Amino acid sequence: MTRVYNFSPGPAALPNAVLEKAREELEGWRATGMSPMELSHRGKEFISIAEKAEADLRELLAVPKHYKVLFLAGGASGQFAAVPMNLWRGRRTASYVSTGYWSEKAIAEARLFGEVQIAASGKESNFTTIPPRATWRVDPDAAYLHYTANETIGGVEFHAPPEVGDVPLVADMSSNILSRPVDVTQYALIYGSAQKNLGLAGLAVVIVREDLIGHAWPGTPSIFDYPQQADERSMVNTPPTYAVYMAGLMLEWLKEQGGLKAIEVHNIRKATKLYAAIDGSSLYSSPVDPAVRSRMNAPFHLADHTLEKAFLEEAKEAGLVTLEGHRSVGGVRASVYNAMPEEGVDALVSFMRDFEKRRG
Ligand code: PMP
Repeated sequence: MTRVYNFSPGPAALPNAVLEKAREELEGWRATGMSPMELSHRGKEFISIAEKAEADLRELLAVPKHYKVLFLAGGASGQFAAVPMNLWRGRRTASYVSTGYWSEKAIAEARLFGEVQIAASGKESNFTTIPPRATWRVDPDAAYLHYTANETIGGVEFHAPPEVGDVPLVADMSSNILSRPVDVTQYALIYGSAQKNLGLAGLAVVIVREDLIGHAWPGTPSIFDYPQQADERSMVNTPPTYAVYMAGLMLEWLKEQGGLKAIEVHNIRKATKLYAAIDGSSLYSSPVDPAVRSRMNAPFHLADHTLEKAFLEEAKEAGLVTLEGHRSVGGVRASVYNAMPEEGVDALVSFMRDFEKRRG
């Protein structure tokens, strides 16, 4: 197979080594004579796969013992609902920070369960920056404060968790989980969908401090009930076994890369090259405040918008694919998760320079 450089925001590129291992094991996992897809979720083989994935995630993120780790179906959107169901605990409000498309989705879902207090919103800047912490109004009695650690579409990223005192902090890390070290102890709950840095779509990982769970809203369906899922090791129903298996391969690969400190260095190098190419040109421009630019998703525009179609078509011919901006904003977006090699970014940067020379 001829591989392209896939800049998709998700489902996203997987490392070649992970695909190769998956291909090998498709022919038989260990000595079972079965592919990983065919293993019973109750059998010792799949249980060993799931336990290893959890152990590797705990090791990579240094997750303390008093946090539960869950692998759940329904993606991050499932967690938009599960978080309020589990963490509202009878409080009057939950606080949310809106930094773009995905925060707005989380807010809309939380409103199904109670009063959402908007602590801050980047709407006035068209979500091109993150409102400074000093301007936020966090309800001190809120059940929790929710923020989106990386806005996959708008391309703004928190480079440090916000200080919120005693209010439990909840982060949607769908598009930057495992891209850098994180101090889990600063969080009440971290969740993220898997299709960017953890493999396949449909799966979400949840890391939650155990003292906060056990007071779920009475209408909570069993599959969204964290204590039930924790007691049954994320097997209240048949889990998405192949997605858990692939998450396991991604975690092993990440350990082989040297863990999160090493992958962060790699990600900073890629993002620096990409933004330097955008800023150093008169054809390309980034709408995002440089202080909060995402290392994972770089949206940009061409000064002459009518050239964007040709840019995308020619990029595709050069083996640089899925660079279209989200349908809500247009333009171009390069997503460069952990699996994007530096050579992929180099190839994109050199294509951008060449295109500018010819068409700019
Ligand atoms: N949050 C963020 C930041 C995302 O990027 C996405 C998906 N792109 C989601 C939530 C929703 O994830 P899913 O489609 O897996 O439910």
